[in-house]
Amino acid sequence: MSGPKKYSDDEMAKRLMEHLGHPIEIVKYGDPAMNVAIECVQCGAVLMDFDVGEPFECVSCGADLEPGVDVCEECGEPTGTTEEKS
Ligand SMILES: [Zn+2]
Ligand SMILES: [Zn+2]
Repeated sequence: MSGPKKYSDDEMAKRLMEHLGHPIEIVKYGDPAMNVAIECVQCGAVLMDFDVGEPFECVSCGADLEPGVDVCEECGEPTGTTEEKS
């Protein structure tokens, strides 16, 4: 299983019910953390996971963007936040 996947509440509830009574732990991926997951220790299964990142603003138009976005959804300009201009 790879890539982000969204579950409905019903699907999520059923997934979690499979792990009733199992030991659960929080696992962080990356340093600094890029992703935090809730995992079942007993099954070694990821139950839920969440991306970590500060939202940032487009340098061109000021739109609020998701972390890691390379091109602004609003103005189409490169966000330019990954490299410092000299
Ligand atoms: Zn389990
Ligand atoms: Zn923009």
